[in-house]
Order: sequence, then structure tokens, then C-alpha cells
Amino acid sequence: MKRLVVLGGGESGVGASILAKQQGWDVFLSDGAVLKDNYQQELLQYQIQFEHKGHTLEKILDSELIVKSPGIPETSPIVQAARKKGIQIISEIELAFRYKGNSKVAAITGSNGKSTTTSLLYHICKSAGINCALVGNIGYSFAKQVAENPVEWYIAEISSFQLDDIDTFRPDIAILLNITEDHLDRYNYQFQNYINSKFKIIQNQTSSDYFIYCLDDEVITKQFEILTIHSNPLPFSMKQELKKGGYMKGDQMMLRIQEERVSMSIYDFALKGKHNGYNTMAAGIAATTMGIRKEKIRDAVTNFHSLEHRMEFVAMVRGVEFINDSKATNVNSTWFALESMNKPTILILGGVDKGNDYSLLEELVSEKVKAIVCLGTDNQKIIDAFKDKVKVIVEADNAKKAVNQAFKLAQKDDVVLLSPACASFDLFKNYEDRGQQFKDAVKEL
Ligand code: ADP
Repeated sequence: MKRLVVLGGGESGVGASILAKQQGWDVFLSDGAVLKDNYQQELLQYQIQFEHKGHTLEKILDSELIVKSPGIPETSPIVQAARKKGIQIISEIELAFRYKGNSKVAAITGSNGKSTTTSLLYHICKSAGINCALVGNIGYSFAKQVAENPVEWYIAEISSFQLDDIDTFRPDIAILLNITEDHLDRYNYQFQNYINSKFKIIQNQTSSDYFIYCLDDEVITKQFEILTIHSNPLPFSMKQELKKGGYMKGDQMMLRIQEERVSMSIYDFALKGKHNGYNTMAAGIAATTMGIRKEKIRDAVTNFHSLEHRMEFVAMVRGVEFINDSKATNVNSTWFALESMNKPTILILGGVDKGNDYSLLEELVSEKVKAIVCLGTDNQKIIDAFKDKVKVIVEADNAKKAVNQAFKLAQKDDVVLLSPACASFDLFKNYEDRGQQFKDAVKEL
């Protein structure tokens, strides 16, 4: 029996093991850290051998194919040793793709907006009665879905790490939302490496596939100077009218795909704000190429519920609105959040800085922000960046204090926005924990 080793035992690693086992591989999973109980149970249930809390090199190198989890960097000694031995290393989406049969894939990537757009497209497809599943980075393994419950369409959120190790992966629909600097620590601090990784989403596409992308993103369009697209390009823009793809005309979203013409008022979108205009156009174009009727798209886009921790309305307390955008873990996300504010804003900002350039926020902060509440252990960089831009900057070391201070600074008709531009690991378990503690504190006011 051919031997396959899976490195990393999280959602995607365990999913890959289950699929490989089902497909007749002799599977061994290895994780350097402790495996969660539920994953151990699953591996036992499928009789898959595994080790955790350390790697046994000989067992790993005794394999024909390695599936590497996205969290494991290329520089790790295990990966280096496998490369040296010439063992093929693929990602979990590549494995899932190889065994998906005739089913189709819509793959969504970008630096920001992936989860939102993936969920929206899934919602449109589901509402239109398509046999589909929501998979990938959003929390459910693509490989496991293929193994346990195959469907006609996989709507997949794809990270750059998953794209790094593809070989034949070829989505029928690829969506590239935007590219801004992120995760550079994993790309040798070279932005171009990260850009190349994102563009791998179209590397195997052919003339029967679609490539949906943001024409207003200069990082994306610049890449076309050095790259040939083999699939059908369907751009979207807020800056220009297009003959095909999607654009905004005043308050209307217009989609033009082959003979199909869709128009929709942005006031009917469930998802508000400019960035969500882009996400909605991208999902709308994809749905149209799938043959979903415009009435269905219109209904689904109108009744979609936004995701938790992403521009989530929390409550109105004595005329002050509270919004939880804890998922905004980089400057770009916070830029879009601020951009969509139309009331004076108390901004809660801070956490673990991943090399942020706060100057990008200066203009919007001067224009819209009354006060900043720093929510992090080291806030100096934020204070230095904005001390001349806002009158009041205060610090808090937990969510409750941050909410209380923000509420004190706010007046009726103001908004308190948690959109931190930073990771959460200094004071919280993760961004969900930060968002939840924020919401709990608001409810106690
Ligand atoms: P991802 O899955 O790529 O991390 P999410 O859909 O979870 O993206 O959104 C993360 C954050 O990014 C949200 O807080 C939101 O404010 C911001 N955002 C969403 N869509 C976009 C977009 N198209 N461009 C820029 N920022 C966006």
C-alpha cells in the first residue's frame, strides 16, 4: 500500500487523513503539538495511525506523498528534510481536488473579505437549491467533505498557505478580492512572493473557467503585465463601467455576464459598507456564471445575515451604537470599517501589531474619529501615530474597561467601533474571544 503522511492535525490535516484513508492510502499523521481530543477521537474512529507532541523523522520520510497543513512553514526542519529527499508535498485542497470527481469548485481568496464573500456565495447557492457545501479556511475541511458528504459544488475559502502547495488544483470559478500586505513573515518578507501565491489560484485554469477579480486593486492589475490569463476574466469595479463583469452606477450594482443583465440597489444589500459592495459584486458575478436566476440572487443578497465579529451590530445603548469588527486584524480591514462610518466614531484599536503602517488610517481618523481607546498591552505605536490627529487617546487592558471608557467618551448619535487593526493574542485567546468579551461588556452597560 502506498504511504501518505499528513503533517499537522488540525481541521484540514484530520480531514486530509480521512480522505486519504478512504482512497486506499496507508496514512500516518504527525503533529509537533498536542492534538485536540475531538480530532484524536476521529483518527481513532477511522483507524488512522498518528503521533503528536513531536515528529519521528524516519516515519515521516518513509512516504510517497506528504500533505502539509497550512500552519506549518516551508522553513520547518521536517519540511526541509522531506524536500531534500524529493518527496512531493501538497496541501489539503490539492488532495481534496484530486478526489472530488466531476464536482465543481468556486474558490475565494484575497487578503480581506474571504469569509464574508464565501459565506455570501454559499448562501446564494443554497437559496437557489444548488447541492453545495461551504468548505476551506472558513472552518470545515474540504477533504473531509469530499470523503464524507460529496456535493456538486464546493464553495471554498482558500488561504495563500493552502495555495502554496497546490499542483493540479483548478477551480471552475476563482475569485481574487484584493491583495494587501499580510503574512509577510511566511514569505521571506517579500510582498511579491505573497502576490505570486495568491495568483496560483488561476495557474491551472482553462478557457472553460472564470476568473473574477477586483479591477480597482492596483496590486492585482499590475500582475497582469507579467501574467497570462487562460480563463474568462470577469472584473468588478466601483470606478468604471464595464462591458462584462460588475460595476456600480450611482446606487445600483450592475452585473453583465454574457447575455445576463442584473441590477440591484445597494440599499437592498444586507451587507453594508464599501468593502461589502465589492464582496457582494464578486459573489453576485460568481452566482450568475453558475446560472442562478437574478431574482434568486437579489433575494439572497437582501436576506443574508452578516457574520459574527465582522461589522456586526451589537446594540444601541442610550443612542450610542456599538459595532463589533474584531475580525479586522490588519490596517486595511480597519480602513474599510472606518470608511463606512457615517457618525462620529470612538475607535477601539490595538493588540498585537504585525508591522502595521498606521499612516494609511490618518485621513479617515482625522475626519471621523473623536477618540481612540487602545486595547492592547503595548500601545505606544498607536499613541505616536495618532496623538496629533485625535484629541483623546486612552488605554484599556481588558474589554470591559475599553467599553466603559468608550461609552463615557461617546454622546448620543455616536458610534463605538471595535476594529482593532491588530491580532488579539496579547489580551485574548483569539479574535472571536475579543469580539465576544466586547459584546458581553456592551450588554452589561
Ligand atoms: P477574511 O476571511 O479574508 O479574513 P472576512 O470576511 O472575515 O475576511 O473580513 C475580515 C475583515 O476585513 C472584516 O472585519 C471587514 O471589515 C474587512 N473586509 C471585508 N471585506 C473586505 C474587502 N473586500 N476589502 C477590505 N476589507 C474587507
